[in-house]
Amino acid sequence: YHTSAVRRDGDTLTVSLSHTHTHTHTHTSITYLISNCITRSTPPLQVTPSVSELEFRTERRVPRLGVMLVGWGGNNGTTVTAAVLANRLGLTWRTKTGEQKANYYGSLFQSSTVCLGPGPDGKEVNIPFRDLLPMVHPNDIVFDGWDISSMDLGSAMERAEVLDWSLQEKLRPHMSCLRPRASIYIPEFIAANQAGRADNILKGTMAEQVEQIRADIQDFRHSSGVEKVIVLWTANTERFCDLTAGVNDTAKNLLAAIQSGGEVSPSTLFAVASILEGCAYINGSPQNTFVPGAIELAVERNVFIAGDDFKSGQTKIKSVLVDFLISAGIKPTSIVSYNHLGNNDGMNLSAPQQFRSKEISKSNVVDDMVNSNPILYHNGEKPDHCVVIKYVPYVGDSKRAMDEYTSEIMMGGTNTIAMHNTCEDSLLASPIILDLVLLTELCQRVCVRPQGSETFQSFHSVLAILSFMCKAPLVPPGAPLVNAYFRQRACIENIMRACLGLPPQNHMHLEHKLQ
Ligand code: NAD
Repeated sequence: YHTSAVRRDGDTLTVSLSHTHTHTHTHTSITYLISNCITRSTPPLQVTPSVSELEFRTERRVPRLGVMLVGWGGNNGTTVTAAVLANRLGLTWRTKTGEQKANYYGSLFQSSTVCLGPGPDGKEVNIPFRDLLPMVHPNDIVFDGWDISSMDLGSAMERAEVLDWSLQEKLRPHMSCLRPRASIYIPEFIAANQAGRADNILKGTMAEQVEQIRADIQDFRHSSGVEKVIVLWTANTERFCDLTAGVNDTAKNLLAAIQSGGEVSPSTLFAVASILEGCAYINGSPQNTFVPGAIELAVERNVFIAGDDFKSGQTKIKSVLVDFLISAGIKPTSIVSYNHLGNNDGMNLSAPQQFRSKEISKSNVVDDMVNSNPILYHNGEKPDHCVVIKYVPYVGDSKRAMDEYTSEIMMGGTNTIAMHNTCEDSLLASPIILDLVLLTELCQRVCVRPQGSETFQSFHSVLAILSFMCKAPLVPPGAPLVNAYFRQRACIENIMRACLGLPPQNHMHLEHKLQ
């Protein structure tokens, strides 16, 4: 089973394998190999490889995609919209160091590559990730959204203080005509310091507000001509919602609580409205939007949900560094992370309940790596892990993250790694927003037929393949939670390879290692 004769014709990737192209779909079959451990811990361990045939079917036609952002007028909302417009228009602008051209750096699909395999000369052939399968191009996304602040996107971009002034001047005519729709505002869920911007809010009962959000989605779909809508929360971090039996434990109870006005957060109301409209819903913030009732509703309606919390800066590095340390046999014993930032997100997070949501989301990121290594950590031992976030208005969107990783090395030695990371938070989050929606859209066109099954199945409603972009990944019940950066990336790459009928990357390079 090997890959052969891979050829690129312009932008089309041709793979010579036993797969068929119909007019609309690519059908492939792969041999799926996993190693099943028969026993868990008591020696002797028994492992058996299990082999099955999987068929993949990928719809090739790329739809016209609409993305609705909750929190459209915020730093991320305005920055991602501006970046797409600037790329679409091919804008360049002057900075003090010269001319800058719009790009999509930081996007897995637009700016990173994958290795297909060795070429005729034995050297690796790398192609843009986005060229593996037909995907929506970010330039073609149509944006819309909601915000509790009525400010038009031109002024909101200025308020965000993220983009160079000369670029803002070029974008303003295109951004000023965009205005967020009125949103659901329940003051107790976000910090009290946000009240001043809440001048664009829906009235009526909770149920009526959900109906209005559904009407907005329908209106956007019809007026813009998009074929598919994905809704993504990039609004302020909310406090955690109480999980209460009879209120949000089942889909039925959650829908009833919305009718009677129980404890349901704005983000959950948006999730419910999206699911009822058949639109995938992604949560870019840390709060527990996906209460059990919301997850059940998504599963019942066969709609994708994903989250939580964009994995953009400090946590992304953590998921690389701790993976490296523990997989190298080094034992991190203390991880201390300080942040200070001065944007509106920072101001909201300066309130204790909202900070608590972020603290929880940032804290669990090393668990899978720690749990994977009982040589270093036994009896539930964990590294000390502390996360501090402070609001310092002067630094604006230019977030500072300082981390100290202390590890035990051989023979009682100590290794300390300290790092300082400065960059505009929203310029890290924006390409992640794009990757999240592009991958979600692709997953809506893929289905798999397991061996012995009569029918093709779509991915589980809890779209765990998006874990790569999330700080606190949501996974289906019982599924392993993976935070480690390279495992998450390999998951996306290998599933996309399977859609092409290509085997997963195994990195063995045996073709170069034998006599
Ligand atoms: P921001 O404060 O600039 O933007 C949030 C926007 O949401 C504001 O315009 C606010 O008016 C609006 N809003 C608040 N409640 C709303 C509601 N109920 N409905 C509609 N709009 C509402 O923040 P940001 O920097 O754009 O970040 C957005 C979210 O993304 C935050 O929760 C943040 O924690 C999360 N996040 C950001 C990053 C990053 O790197 N930028 C990383 C991970 C997570």
